[in-house]
Amino acid sequence: MKYSRFLAYTLICLITISCSVKRPVTNSVLASDGKLWAALWQQRAAEYKALCFQAYNIARLRLDQDLQTDMPARRAIITDIDETILDNSPNAVHQALQGREFEPDSWYKWTAKADCDTLAGALSFFRYAASKGVTVFYITNRDEQEREATLKNLRRFGFPDADNEHLLLKQTVSDKEDRRLEVLKSHRIVLLLGDNLSDFSKLFNKLPEDERMKITRQQSGNFGSKFIVLPNSTYGDWENAIFQYNYKINPAQKEEIIKKSLRDE
Ligand SMILES: [Mg+2]
Repeated sequence: MKYSRFLAYTLICLITISCSVKRPVTNSVLASDGKLWAALWQQRAAEYKALCFQAYNIARLRLDQDLQTDMPARRAIITDIDETILDNSPNAVHQALQGREFEPDSWYKWTAKADCDTLAGALSFFRYAASKGVTVFYITNRDEQEREATLKNLRRFGFPDADNEHLLLKQTVSDKEDRRLEVLKSHRIVLLLGDNLSDFSKLFNKLPEDERMKITRQQSGNFGSKFIVLPNSTYGDWENAIFQYNYKINPAQKEEIIKKSLRDE
């Protein structure tokens, strides 16, 4: 009798403790598992590396074509950083293994390590461009608190123009157009490289899904020509557009939208 009372008491205590423990808000299982799968592809698929090489080979081809013209000099290349020249998939894995998606605090801790690897083909392309007198501008939506670590990470590999003058971080808005226009004041932009359509033109900024598709079709001639696209299946505006740029969407709604968005057989 005493023993069963003790068991009941223990059970009540355990239930009370478990209810009072503050659990993290879990994110959508579909979304976080999806990010794990995407990161697996980014880290382990030779096909991913091949696509990066392909993008940078095309970039070199286009640059060589431009170098043969007598268009005004002061050539510049504008490039994004994350998932364009640096690989952040370890942060996506870190989050997904805890059932979490992107979180700013975790991201800042990750970028502060200056430990991102570089994408296949990126370094040799930018070094080649620099050897031909082309200036590189890094236009990224990393912010001021990430400046030092970002430069450290770029310098670790020996990326050209990795200095304050050529690193244009996000100040107040994520729209990159003003920063592109700033570069245009002094340089002719030969190429733009990015993994997100808004890395190329303001035409793509924060559009609904169907509009993104429409503008992409209209701009098809620029891809592989002036715009060099790197693959990113982990995150980007493609994902934000699906959730209608609602960053406070709850996990259940997210799961529902993901299921509704997919074409089944
Ligand atoms: Mg990016």
